Amino acid sequence: MNDEQLLRYSRHILLPELGVEGQQKILSASALVIGAGGLGSPAALYLAAAGVGPLVLADGDDVDLTNLQRQILHATGSVGRPKVDSGREGLARINPEVKVVPVRQRLADDALAELVAASSVILDCSDNFATRHAVNRACVRHRKPLVSGAAVRFDGQVSVFDLRDELSPCYHCLFPEDGELEELRCSIMGVFAPLTGIIGTVQAAEALKLLAGVGETLKGRLMVLDALAMQWRTIKLAKDPACPVCSRVTA
Ligand SMILES: [Zn+2]
Repeated sequence: MNDEQLLRYSRHILLPELGVEGQQKILSASALVIGAGGLGSPAALYLAAAGVGPLVLADGDDVDLTNLQRQILHATGSVGRPKVDSGREGLARINPEVKVVPVRQRLADDALAELVAASSVILDCSDNFATRHAVNRACVRHRKPLVSGAAVRFDGQVSVFDLRDELSPCYHCLFPEDGELEELRCSIMGVFAPLTGIIGTVQAAEALKLLAGVGETLKGRLMVLDALAMQWRTIKLAKDPACPVCSRVTA
């Protein structure tokens, strides 16, 4: 780290748990943030501010006026522009040191697999089950830590599926693909703006801890937030031995 970096990251370096070594790990790590919306905005902002790079920001959408109530990476002047371009500019304003790679597509298949394989940590900040399951499968296959978040109405949830560990549950263990779960979209159901900030920020915190190798992550725990009552619940997660996605890997 040069003198400017020592200053920029000094409040991290002061933390005995991180120090120069932990900050150096953060600086040399790469993150894949899937979705530059309500969750991806705060997650990417904190990761970039902390120096994580390359930071790959993937999203196929353009900024819409209805996004601005919560997607704090984007400003009014960006309406109509690709979210990844607006996002790259927003992140560069905070930390021009960080290399941001914009990927203007809803990631799937080979492109997803390639980016997952190349990243130190993956943050699922998407808003649909198809993407969530595809991201999970790629993380299982490439044994990568997945930080998963979701928020709709006043309800949020966040967990870590650390798929470097054979005993860790995966997203599919918890939410089977053929399950009865109804997809609740913010566009129909609405979402409380700061809730996306809270969940996305927890995702950033877990990602930084994973990258620096400090503390205890949310592996094996699902945190569920009722923002209306402002109450967190912790649900213990176990691997489903019959999970068709992650049990095959260990069999
Ligand atoms: Zn599984």
